[in-house]
Amino acid sequence: MDVISSRNPAQHATFRHALTANLTPDGGLWIPARLAPFADIDGLLALPFADRCAAILQRVIGDEFAPADLDALAHDAFDFPLPLTPIDRQTWALELFHGPTLAFKDFGARLLARLLALHDRDATVATPRMILTATSGDTGAAVAHAFWHQPGARVVVLYPRGRVSAMQERQFAALGDNVLALAVEGSFDDCQALAKACFTDAALSAELRLTSANSINLARILAQVVYYFEIVAGLRAHGIDQAPLIAVPSGNFGNLCAGLYAQQRGLPVRQFIAATNDNRTVPNFLSGGAYLTQPSVATLSNAMDVGAPSNWERISALFGGDRARMLAAMRFGSATDAETRAEIARLWQLGWLADPHAAVASAVLQRVRQPHEVGVFLATAHPAKFPDAVEQVTGNSVALPPALARLVDLPLQSEPLANDVAALKRRLRA
Ligand SMILES: *Cc1c(COP(=O)(O)O)cnc(C)c1O
Repeated sequence: MDVISSRNPAQHATFRHALTANLTPDGGLWIPARLAPFADIDGLLALPFADRCAAILQRVIGDEFAPADLDALAHDAFDFPLPLTPIDRQTWALELFHGPTLAFKDFGARLLARLLALHDRDATVATPRMILTATSGDTGAAVAHAFWHQPGARVVVLYPRGRVSAMQERQFAALGDNVLALAVEGSFDDCQALAKACFTDAALSAELRLTSANSINLARILAQVVYYFEIVAGLRAHGIDQAPLIAVPSGNFGNLCAGLYAQQRGLPVRQFIAATNDNRTVPNFLSGGAYLTQPSVATLSNAMDVGAPSNWERISALFGGDRARMLAAMRFGSATDAETRAEIARLWQLGWLADPHAAVASAVLQRVRQPHEVGVFLATAHPAKFPDAVEQVTGNSVALPPALARLVDLPLQSEPLANDVAALKRRLRA
């Protein structure tokens, strides 16, 4: 796959380069140079999920990886269910939270870990790769799990101390072995800035073989493209041929970017809905304001507490920065914490337990849909990851799935870190 810089279309690279190179030389993000529609969309949609993933990966990066390797990788990485669950007669939830860390980020992290292992397979480098990731909660868990015990890889997770849920923290800070968790005195945006400062230090990056696992890594976006196809495939299996509205609960906007890429590849989608919590940088822009990044504010849907969404640059590049073209492809809206709680309660009445992130998407979907439209929202996390918010609303305690129950008694092993680049670099080199 030919990839280019979001800031300069003349800057080309291979997908393999983008997989390990973090940012582009001009500080932008790697984006696909072309997004031609796939031939035979109907044939693709008729395949079982893992076979369809393999077929899509082969079409996109089959020029750089052996097709048989990609086939094995897709079946190994995506070995958990992703049911499309009916909510009411015209609304569906795509449940993306049945992977090992119970959030959709397992898709991206598991593909990334396996692609890096394949990429490094032939290299004879003694230094292990260091995966550095900033997390607002779920990325750290997914990345840490995906690389945990993987030979030739070390993982460093930066997270805002006291601003992730106890369960999220346990999922990356209780693992140990090749996973180091650093609790930063600051916000998620501070963590993201710290990581970025390390990646832009060429000497440090080379010395430690620093590799990004954040949603700025194009491999993660690619992993997410595949499940959008499952939405249309699942609807067709239920006899619905109408192109759906798809509501995406958004923070860094990698997930929405993947959906837009799927649409460019020919997936029939009526429109996307960019749904945020009170971190309204993108809704403010789409409703006519300037694009102004802001300090993040804390909400119930904390994995979306992002004031400076890193993937917006990709979406902006896709539309040449043209707001009118963006508005043709997507609607938008935001939900407050009060609206999020009310939506969890409404969905519970309908028999489905939502986590706060799914509830944000569902609330905005309800607000902007027309009566005849089929709507799907992405359910990005298991409700058991946010027991306080959910129990407060439903009055019911959420049963802990085995993946979480195992972690409850493990001691945390994280270290505190000042919000200071020099301190971080010292720790990484130690
Ligand atoms: C990360 C995350 C999001 C936001 O996804 P982006 O790709 O950053 O927009 C939404 N929900 C959950 C549960 C998440 O972990």
